[in-house]
Amino acid sequence: MMKLNIQNTFSKELPADKILENSRRQVVDACFSYVTPKKTKLPKLLHVSEELLSSLGLTKEDTQSDEFLAVFSGNEVFENTHPYAMCYGGHQFGHWAGQLGDGRAINLFEIEHNQKQWALQLKGAGETPYSRRADGLAVLRSSIREHLCSEAMYHLGVPTTRSLSLSLTGDEVLRDVMYNGNAAYEKGAVVCRVAPSFIRFGNFEILSARQNHQTLQLLTDYTIQHFYPEIASEGKQKYLDFLTAVRDNTIEMVVHWQRVGFVHGVMNTDNMSILGLTIDYGPYGWLEDVNYEWTPNTTDAQNRRYRFGNQPYITMWNMYKLANALYPLIDEVDPLQAILDDYESLYLEKYQQMMRHKLGLYDTKTTDSLNIIAEIEKTLQLTETDYTIFYRLLANITKEDTTETALNKITYSFYDTQELKGEVSDSWKKWLTTYIKAINNETLIDSERKEKMDAINPKYVLRNYMAQLAIDDANNGNYQLIDELYQLLKNPYNEQPENEKWFAKRPDWAKNKIGCSMLSCSS
Ligand code: AMP
Ligand code: MG
Repeated sequence: MMKLNIQNTFSKELPADKILENSRRQVVDACFSYVTPKKTKLPKLLHVSEELLSSLGLTKEDTQSDEFLAVFSGNEVFENTHPYAMCYGGHQFGHWAGQLGDGRAINLFEIEHNQKQWALQLKGAGETPYSRRADGLAVLRSSIREHLCSEAMYHLGVPTTRSLSLSLTGDEVLRDVMYNGNAAYEKGAVVCRVAPSFIRFGNFEILSARQNHQTLQLLTDYTIQHFYPEIASEGKQKYLDFLTAVRDNTIEMVVHWQRVGFVHGVMNTDNMSILGLTIDYGPYGWLEDVNYEWTPNTTDAQNRRYRFGNQPYITMWNMYKLANALYPLIDEVDPLQAILDDYESLYLEKYQQMMRHKLGLYDTKTTDSLNIIAEIEKTLQLTETDYTIFYRLLANITKEDTTETALNKITYSFYDTQELKGEVSDSWKKWLTTYIKAINNETLIDSERKEKMDAINPKYVLRNYMAQLAIDDANNGNYQLIDELYQLLKNPYNEQPENEKWFAKRPDWAKNKIGCSMLSCSS
């Protein structure tokens, strides 16, 4: 038997849906509905994040038990626990969408271990009252993407939900990947996600929209008590401090996204964690050639609302929606507005600081460094340049380098070196000349600067094509690459000579391939 220290708080302290029938409907006056995961045909454990086990008080032996597979594929309910789906709403692509909720996520239970609280949740475990017109299931490809990327982001130091396990269900799931009338059966899968809490902006929005102010207050008090215990104020001030803390965590998260080149793809308010964690890995992507206009999500191809360069503004937009939702607890516009007004300057300050560090600039005068940042953002887009490779190679430039030798050191980051001529080449040389001058004014010696830069500019990220290779293999019954990538991405900042092949630009075949640079919401 697995030994788990079950300590449910969400379902114990907040109001439950009184209706127990698992039918699709509006759920009012409640934060969640009890529901049992769907039994699956032939569950098979494909991968476990060993790293996460000890945080939860689990062992490697536990993962080899029938019980582990049964519980984390949804086939058995752990003793004395009562799984449930959460009720939330959200703004999707800028519009209020009403009730959404956990349509295919089922919370199993919460664990307390080493004074930390963890909620464990299955994604793809069958329908709930919130499933609307869909089936509550998930396919293998999207489950591999969620499992690998959650863990990769964690090891990159980006605030994120985690993934404990990835299992096949043995059931087939019908999906029309590009929404073009070509539906086909795919392998079904279940991921067990882990986070201190899965509460989203949308949990507050739905209660506010329904003018259920009493439950709104209960949920907010619950969230503060468990996840923002440092807030000591009372009354209205408590809720203002809460909004401020969420704002700061959200800024922190999005600055990390910009640092590593992660594009979430669907930043609807139902996909915004109240803890500032990256949540809901759907049609996300990693920036390959630098393009601030890029989004991998084909559903958003027209407006590109969630493009790379827009992410910080969308998090701000989402903060406005959260502030609106909390308004009934505060009843005053001005102090709310003040918190939101500071968003942009706080973000810029953090962003610029992060960029200075990406460039290895610590002593350079602020005005000079801002100029260097603005110019590199422009220069990187003149010709297809790989985001990850460029910043990693930049650390090799030394104070002694000439413009020419420096350019040679970063050449590997260009997709087509033929393009490096005329004005493009002039711009690069101009930027490098300024940059070499700047690092010559830095106190750190070259090796010290490189060490610091290498600790924040990853060598390995989950490039879109890498996940797709693992998916293609898995669809053919070969699951090895999942673990290979998992192991690689556990140390994204380390040199791994045996893994140099993954320090490579996107191959040509992946440029316009579905699943690589183009993804739909179908999952
Ligand atoms: P997403 O855009 O993936 O965050 O999903 C938006 C909403 O749709 C959430 O309420 C999800 O629970 C729900 N949803 C997405 N896929 C499914 C599915 N296959 N079955 C049921 N609900 C789903
Ligand atoms: Mg979602």
